[in-house]
Amino acid sequence: MSSKQIGLKSRKSSSKYANLPVSSTKSSSKLVTQVSVDDLRSPVSVERLKENVTVTVRFRPLSPREIRQGEEIAWYADGETTVRNENNPSVAYAYDRVFGPTTTTRHVYDTAAHHVVGGAMEGINGTIFAYGVTSSGKTHTMHGDQRSPGIIPLAVKDAFSIIQETPSREFLLRVSYLEIYNEVVNDLLNPAGQNLRIREDSQGTFVEGIKEEVVLSPAHALSLIAAGEEHRHVGSTNFNLLSSRSHTIFTLTIESSGCGENGDGGDVNLSQLNLIDLAGSESSKAETTGVRRKEGSYINKSLLTLGTVISKLTDVRAAHIPYRDSKLTRLLQSSLSGRGRVSLICTVTPSSSNTEETHNTLKFAHRAKKIEIQAAQNR
Ligand code: ADP
Ligand code: MG
Repeated sequence: MSSKQIGLKSRKSSSKYANLPVSSTKSSSKLVTQVSVDDLRSPVSVERLKENVTVTVRFRPLSPREIRQGEEIAWYADGETTVRNENNPSVAYAYDRVFGPTTTTRHVYDTAAHHVVGGAMEGINGTIFAYGVTSSGKTHTMHGDQRSPGIIPLAVKDAFSIIQETPSREFLLRVSYLEIYNEVVNDLLNPAGQNLRIREDSQGTFVEGIKEEVVLSPAHALSLIAAGEEHRHVGSTNFNLLSSRSHTIFTLTIESSGCGENGDGGDVNLSQLNLIDLAGSESSKAETTGVRRKEGSYINKSLLTLGTVISKLTDVRAAHIPYRDSKLTRLLQSSLSGRGRVSLICTVTPSSSNTEETHNTLKFAHRAKKIEIQAAQNR
């Protein structure tokens, strides 16, 4: 599958390009991977697949409420790549990177997101997920606030900076913003766009009728997100409760063309960057009402499918990847093809009040990409 295939079908591109080319964007991160266009045409090696998929865990600090209630630390970051159980240190998991509770979102961005954004600006599809139970820090990580901007605003700013730094290419950026609630796709940029269909053509899957807006500045893109939040399916009274029951996908579609030294217009790249705040991964077993159980079963199914798809991406022998088992994975099929870059950021609380749910998140993350524990084994 080529990097030109995209998940959300693009409208006809306008001739208005913001001026920019994509140069190689340096980062201090150890996780950064560089994939050249040639790599995209040749078979994907296991090493490359593993590099394309990074799995990280981010701890939040104990909340004031957890501290008031006398909660203790149950899980902690043991070095940069291992999470360990305080009461049973032999229970430990390794990841590409583990971020402790004092790590800033900026640092998480530089390590686990910047290379995905840089790749997307070069024509390589990218997807960044925040996965975890409700109140573990997904929205803090993806959206953040004024004081601590999240990965979405940082990515949007980064994209426009790359445009400025790349005068040899012209860029056109478009955004869309959607919600998947109970396996129904709703357009957050267009209140009339409810229950949209996912369709497929020779270029891949796309959402029929989704609104895409050309954006000319970071502030413009961020104002669209703010407007989209107003259109969330969930009522404002129980926004916090229900917002944890839906997945939201913010997509930046990036089109760029080389300015072509011989006047032929050069090459054209088309790629998508999907930034996803997933529904809370808590188990729905304890739910008693029918509505909650139904929501929970849809969420569990789509998150389970997501885990299966990501884990199969790093397994070249996997014959069948079950993209069609959920709207989320079907929609992202082109981006999750193994050639795109994927960053799964799993958010957790260290608190002893949530030991089992945190353990479930850690197991999910480990299953998505198995990494052997190397250091601090015999602590
Ligand atoms: P989720 O979206 O997973 O339900 P939130 O992002 O809303 O969780 O986080 C729950 C609360 O914890 C919020 O008040 C948020 O500001 C705070 N929080 C989450 N992660 C962090 C962090 N890394 N550092 C400081 N506060 C955090
Ligand atoms: Mg949230």
